[in-house]
This record gives sequence, C-alpha cells and structure tokens, in this order.
Amino acid sequence: MEETLSIIKPDAVRAGNTGRIIAHLEDAGFEVQAIRRLRLSQAQAEAFYAVHRERPFFADLVAFMTSGPAVAIALARENAVTHLRDTMGATDSTQAAPGTIRNLYGSNIQNNAIHGSDSPENAAIERTFFFAGCDLVG
Ligand code: ATP
Ligand code: MG
Repeated sequence: MEETLSIIKPDAVRAGNTGRIIAHLEDAGFEVQAIRRLRLSQAQAEAFYAVHRERPFFADLVAFMTSGPAVAIALARENAVTHLRDTMGATDSTQAAPGTIRNLYGSNIQNNAIHGSDSPENAAIERTFFFAGCDLVG
C-alpha cells in the first residue's frame, strides 16, 4: 500500500462538502488513516506551499488557504499518489474531467477544493507536517 496526503481546502469546507469529499475518496478505494480539521496559520500555509513562493499567485494562495478551516487527511491505497491526482482532476476546476472532485466541488484554478501530494517523497514530508506517527493508523 502506498501512502499520500490530501487537504480538503477552505472553499470546500465552507461549502459544506467535507463529508461528500471523504465519501468520494473512500469510494475511490482510499483508506482514511488519519484526519484532522485545522485552520492553517500564515506561516504554516507559506511553509506548506514554499515551492510556489516565487509564483505570482503565491500571496493569493496563502490568503485562500488561511481563509477558514481545512481538513488534512492521511490516505493509503495501491498507487495512492497517482490515483489521488486522477481522482482530484486537473488543477483548474473548470478544466477538470467530469466526475472528479475538482469538477464536482471546485470553482476555478485557485479555489479547487482539494490538495493531493505530487510524489511519494512529498507525501511523506506532507504527512509529517500534519500528523504525528502515533496518529497514523494503517
Ligand atoms: P495542490 O498542490 O493544491 O494539490 P496542484 O498540484 O494541482 O494543486 P500546484 O501547481 O501545486 O497545483 O498549485 C498549488 C495550488 O496553487 C493550486 O491547487 C491552486 O490552489 C493554486 N494555483 C495554482 N496555479 C494557480 C494560478 N495560475 N492562479 C491561481 N492559483 C493557482
Ligand atoms: Mg501541487
């Protein structure tokens, strides 16, 4: 089993879609290993998306990610990283394939409902960012 990390972003939490997105992930074959609702601080959001620090959308992205509660979820499945990205759909919700989470629950390229790790290496880093080892029930 491969592991990954997802975040239900503040737009989807605000819209009341937390439960529907978790059910979508379970229906897609993911096991929920740990789950935590939190509001990212400015420093936490900047650290989490540090790879995008130089991008023109960085300040808006940090403002969005700190705009309300989010839900971090540790997930496991075969081929979990790739499968989560497929289940989420394209970054721009308006381009996301029908039936994907971003198609169903996202609005645009920024407010796109869900995050998924982009590699097993980053999944390990991002899981440690949100969860202690004792929280991860496999
Ligand atoms: P995530 O890392 O959140 O799973 P992603 O890997 O599909 O998304 P990235 O390129 O890593 O996309 O961008 C991180 C996030 O930054 C996007 O999910 C989106 O919220 C925001 N973002 C990306 N590109 C843009 C853009 N051109 N304009 C505004 N926001 C953007
Ligand atoms: Mg990304």
